[in-house]
Amino acid sequence: MTEIGFEGLSIDGKRLPAQEGREAQVFDPANGKVLARVAQAGVADVDRAVQAAYTKFSAGSWRRMSSRARGQLLQRIAELIRDRAEMLARLESHNAGKPIGAARGEIQAVAGCFEYYAGAINKFSGETIPGAAEGTLLTFHEPLGVCALIVPWNFPLLIASWKIAPALAMGNTAVVKPASATPLSVLALADLALEAGLPPGVLNVIPGSGGEIGAALVGHPLVRKVAFTGSTAVGSQVMRQAAEGIKRVSLELGGKSANIVFADAELDTCVESSVFAVYDNAGQDCCSRSRILVEREIYDEFARRFARRAQALRLGDTQDDQTEIGPLISREQRQSVRRYLEIGDREGAQRICGGEIPSEEPLARGNYLRPAVYTQVSSQMRIAQEEIFGPIAAILPFEGEAEAIRIANDSRYGLSGSVWTRDIGRALRVVRALETGMVSVNSSSSVHIEAPFGGVKQSGLGREQGMVALEHYSEYKSVFISAE
Ligand code: NAP
Repeated sequence: MTEIGFEGLSIDGKRLPAQEGREAQVFDPANGKVLARVAQAGVADVDRAVQAAYTKFSAGSWRRMSSRARGQLLQRIAELIRDRAEMLARLESHNAGKPIGAARGEIQAVAGCFEYYAGAINKFSGETIPGAAEGTLLTFHEPLGVCALIVPWNFPLLIASWKIAPALAMGNTAVVKPASATPLSVLALADLALEAGLPPGVLNVIPGSGGEIGAALVGHPLVRKVAFTGSTAVGSQVMRQAAEGIKRVSLELGGKSANIVFADAELDTCVESSVFAVYDNAGQDCCSRSRILVEREIYDEFARRFARRAQALRLGDTQDDQTEIGPLISREQRQSVRRYLEIGDREGAQRICGGEIPSEEPLARGNYLRPAVYTQVSSQMRIAQEEIFGPIAAILPFEGEAEAIRIANDSRYGLSGSVWTRDIGRALRVVRALETGMVSVNSSSSVHIEAPFGGVKQSGLGREQGMVALEHYSEYKSVFISAE
């Protein structure tokens, strides 16, 4: 891809340089090439974007637009996303280091998210309530106002869409802060939304350093809701700051999900699916099932087959349709992941393959790392407890249902997970006993736009996707009409 040039902030329907004139380069993690120069918002730009969103919200035309009309607008955005899907997929692939096939899938899911909320919004109704008083009790769902939407780099446009689509469907206005490494696709979406007819000021995008402008955005007095996806450490900071202004918060945070494999599982499907459940997106996935719990009697066989498949994964040029695994987002991220290899080796787990930096071209130019597999892992080891966010699997043995549940729940996280068994009774018992927000049986899939997505314990607060997301972007108003 040729360098794009300069990308301005998107505020009130215009592309603007940052007020202090700052900009930063963004890179292709597959080869280190510069993709674009991007304006870097400062605190003054945060205020400018929030003021634009607030002015638009207070003017009333957007929030009072009928839900059907807002839905039609979201539908037009979805259509434009599908029309420009290849351009968006290439942009995401280059900027986030994704294999092009995976990026194409994500862009279709982004369009699907806008379509879902386009259709959902005029089915999200209040209630009439049988009350004791003489008259009628009813509820309205009211929009909140300006929503600050903070997004990470691992699924830049997809995670942004899970916030933007329900927020706008509900009649809110938004200021999006993409991750510093991956602002390009969200800026492109803002342009498409304007082209689709979204009024200026409804959707504003301000790339910039979270460490520098995060507090100004979260703490801005005109922001009524903060939706954050990222690390647990930053999420807890965001929650503390939001508490000052009694703001609504939803948090999608880290994970260390368990993949529980019983001896009666259908192993061919299970191994294939379990490998991708760890290494997809080079392991940079909050739902990564990187703690694999395997019943003792099939432990050796599972580990052998898993490692063979992991070693056969095709690392490669992200623009090649055949590539399965791309690079990590940055050299720093790869360094952080490699530290866990040292930790795992030191803790006495057995690394049966992987963890090398490829030396051959073109991989040597990017931030690639070969998928690593550890066996002989016990639950208290750091590689079994901490979110590594890279291509490292830890395989732990267990004996019986009770031990599987105990180990799976021995985590500060609770985002996702899987259970593999042909015994439906056992599947249901284990599913109910797991401390997690999402779990799949004989599958590794976590994301279904129609169902609530989110975690328990330190994996987060609130839910995205499904009808419930509309509740997180609205407030009840109860009305009593006297009949006396
Ligand atoms: P991160 O460092 O927490 O950053 C997430 C976002 O927050 C980025 O836009 C970042 O901006 C911004 N930020 C940084 N410091 C901030 C502050 N003080 N105030 C407000 N915003 C701030 O996370 P990441 O490394 O990008 O993403 C990886 C993490 O996200 C992993 O832990 C992963 O599990 C989690 N995640 C969770 C889900 C989920 O749905 N549960 C989904 C995907 C990822 P900068 O880029 O400028 O630093």
